[in-house]
Parts: sequence; C-alpha cells; structure tokens
Amino acid sequence: MRTTVRQNKAECTGCGACASVCPNGAITMKPDEEGFLYPSVDPALCISCDLCEKRCPVGREHEPHKQWVLGAQNKDKAVRAASSSGGVFSALAANMIAQGGIVFGAAFDEAMKVEHIGAFSEDEFSAMRGSKYVQSDSAEAIAHAKDLLERGIPVLFSGTPCQIDGLLACVKPQHQQKLLTVDFVCHGVPSPGVFASYIRELEEKRGQKVVAYTFRDKRCGWKDFSAVATFADGSEHAGNQQTEPFLRGFLQNLYLRPSCTQCDALRGDRRRADITMADLWGAQDVCPGWDDDTGLSLLMVGTQKGRKAIEACGAQLVTFPMSTEKLLRVNPSIEKTAQAHPKREAFFKGYKKNGFKAKAVEKLLAGPGRAERILRRIVHLPKGALRRIRVLIGKMKK
Ligand SMILES: Cc1cc2nc3c(=O)[nH]c(=O)nc-3n(C[C@H](O)[C@H](O)[C@H](O)COP(=O)(O)OP(=O)(O)OC[C@H]3O[C@@H](n4cnc5c(N)ncnc54)[C@H](O)[C@@H]3O)c2cc1C
Ligand code: SF4
Ligand code: SF4
Repeated sequence: MRTTVRQNKAECTGCGACASVCPNGAITMKPDEEGFLYPSVDPALCISCDLCEKRCPVGREHEPHKQWVLGAQNKDKAVRAASSSGGVFSALAANMIAQGGIVFGAAFDEAMKVEHIGAFSEDEFSAMRGSKYVQSDSAEAIAHAKDLLERGIPVLFSGTPCQIDGLLACVKPQHQQKLLTVDFVCHGVPSPGVFASYIRELEEKRGQKVVAYTFRDKRCGWKDFSAVATFADGSEHAGNQQTEPFLRGFLQNLYLRPSCTQCDALRGDRRRADITMADLWGAQDVCPGWDDDTGLSLLMVGTQKGRKAIEACGAQLVTFPMSTEKLLRVNPSIEKTAQAHPKREAFFKGYKKNGFKAKAVEKLLAGPGRAERILRRIVHLPKGALRRIRVLIGKMKK
C-alpha cells in the first residue's frame, strides 16, 4: 500500500491528475505546512494498481516542435479591460461555448479560494477572466474534463503548463480530438495558504470581508497594473508592483511552489498546449504601432488544432506576426524557470508561526539596512581592514 505518489515531493506540481485517475478514490489533495496542495493516499483504500504513478506526468520528455508566434488583441474594449493581457482567452472560450462545448478555467469562489470550474455560457466563464497569482485547485476539473471528453463533448481547458501536462497524461489519445488546451507563459504559482492568510490580514485591518480581488487592474494602464481588493462595503485597497506586499512577494519568488523552479521541460519549444498565451511585454519597443496600453497578447501556437481555433476567432481578434527573440529579456519566463528567493525559507519560518504579515514581507524584501551594508563592506575588506573598520564604526555612531 502506498502513502504517497512521488517520492521526491519537490517535483510534484499539484496538478491532481493522480487523484482523478485513482479507480478507488484513495487520493485526496491536502495542503502542506506551506499551504500548497499535495496528493495524500489513504492506505486503506489503495489497491496498489500504481495507476497514479503511471499517469503522473512529471519527468516525461517532450519533443521540441515548431510554433506559430503572433501578437493578438481582442477587439472588444470591455473584454480587454477585464482580461490580463489582450483578452484572447475570452475569444477562444466564446467560440468553444458556441460549438456546444464546455470551458474549464480558474476562478475565485465566495471564500476567495482559487479553483478550476466548468462553464457552459459566457456569463459563467467571465469569472475566469484575469490572472490569479495563486495556485488553482484543478484536481476535480481534470476528472470532469476527462469524463466529458470520454462522452464526446468538446472541452477547452485553460491552466498552467503543468495542469495541462497533467490533463494530457490522464485523457487517452483517442479522447483528445475534441480537447483544446490553452496554457500561458508561467512565472510560477504562489501558495494558496499564503494568499488566504494575506486576505485574512486585509480583512482584520479593515474590519470588512474581502468580496473581490483582482491582480491585474488596468485603471492605470496595462503596463502599470495594480492589485485591488474590494471589501463588502464597496471600499478598496490597492497597490502596485512596488507597494503591494503580496504582489511584490510573488514577483520576487518569495512563496512559489517548489516545483516552479524545475519545470523547464514545459517551456520554450517543448510546450504541450495547443495555444500558449502571454503578455506581449516589450510591445512599446517591438510593435509600438499596436500598443495602446489596454493589453496585448503574445501567442505561441504549437498544433494545427490551435491554429484552427485562432483562425476561427476571425473578426473577434486582430493578429499580427511576432517573434519571441527580442522579448526574452523582458519576459524571461518564456524560456526560463524561476529561481526561489534566497529568503524563501525565512519567509516560511515566519509564516508557519504567524501567517502572512505584510510588515514581515516588506522587511524581508527591503535591501540591506545601513548597519548591514557597512558590515558587508567590512567583511570584504582585503587590506588595511582595521583602519577602515575604525572609520566605519565612527560613521555608524554619528
Ligand atoms: C500564475 C500566473 C503566472 C503568469 N506568468 C506570466 C509570465 O511570467 N509572463 C507572461 O507573459 N504571462 C504570464 N501569465 C499569463 C498572463 O498573465 C495572462 O493570463 C495570459 O496572457 C492570458 O491573458 P488574456 O488576456 O488572454 O486572458 P485572461 O482573461 O486574463 O484569462 C486568464 C486565463 O488564465 C487562467 N488563469 C488565471 N489564473 C490562473 C491560475 N491561478 N491557474 C491556472 N489558470 C489561471 C484563466 O482560467 C483564464 O483562462 C501568468 C498567468 C498566471 C495565472
Ligand atoms: S500527478 Fe500531479 S499531483 Fe499527482 S503526484 Fe504527479 S505531479 Fe503531483
Ligand atoms: S512554474 Fe511550472 S510548475 Fe509552477 S505552476 Fe507554472 S508550469 Fe507549473
């Protein structure tokens, strides 16, 4: 009887594919001390079929393939305003619904938890619009999508590259004809537990429930985006990439999932999804004529199915040729995985004791203080150290 699926926990992406293929319901996804979901196997229910390990996609090699790269924008201004980049996801989702298919993607529930849901209409999929910088719980959605595809119902599944990898590992090739997979260039995903704790801190400070949260508010433009929490009384708390502690910690890799530092097999020309979406960061330099600061998408299309889906969007999208070469400097996640912040361990030590504390995050992310800077200079002094130490100590006393 097994108690776990992967021996090396750090490799597990939490996609939930193992839980969705277990024939005896022995696997549930449970949060660890850092707040990330991992499979937990009930030995009393495990029948040792090893299907979970066989279907787990981690460690599989993927063939490099050619990609059709283009810039794109949804023509509908309101859709663009509610989307993180150029609003391409909405055009693809609307087409899938029009074909009688079902769209899966990430949305907030009432408790501000991010999970994958299924949508039958545009009203339902609108909750999926916008990037949520928190790992979404995708295990149940993968199981439902698999079930629908086996019944011949078309499905669009949108998620992180590792969620798409997990889905493709458990849907048999003969059931994949009606499946359109859409992922994105992925910086990495923060811990759901850390996000929940951050929301609690906001609520305690304001004395109000948080009823909505957007990570990519475009009121100050697409490039200068803010994160905005809306409280039950309609008031807001907003901050940008420099001032909002949770967003800063995400962008500086303070609380990403461990597997997010080792998913190179799903990047560059080895992407698995039919279509990969991204922000067309750098647009002001590479295609200034298209950049109106309301959002532009970069698309990498890896299959004929993906190409047909983009072409079927027709008049909903404007598209133009693009190449990724000049974009790698401003959007390194196109090819590279993130490196964990050197203070990740220190963050989680504090988190396990006190939860998310904005002040603690600000302190961890601040540059070295004056005394520390001076001490560092002392440590690196090669010659005449004593004389300079005296001078520096003198400065510290002033
Ligand atoms: C965690 C994360 C990291 C990202 N990192 C980068 C990056 O480094 N560089 C870059 O160019 N782009 C990145 N993106 C993608 C980018 O922000 C846009 O989501 C993408 O370009 C699609 O934009 P859109 O305007 O077409 O659609 P939108 O309307 O913004 O659609 C968002 C789509 O993303 C899905 N989604 C949202 N949050 C999650 C989540 N937590 N888990 C799984 N799926 C989710 C939704 O289901 C929906 O399909 C990231 C997105 C996320 C969620
Ligand atoms: S299938 Fe997904 S959740 Fe299960 S062990 Fe593998 S990576 Fe982790
Ligand atoms: S960075 Fe890699 S492991 Fe992390 S969520 Fe994205 S694709 Fe998955």
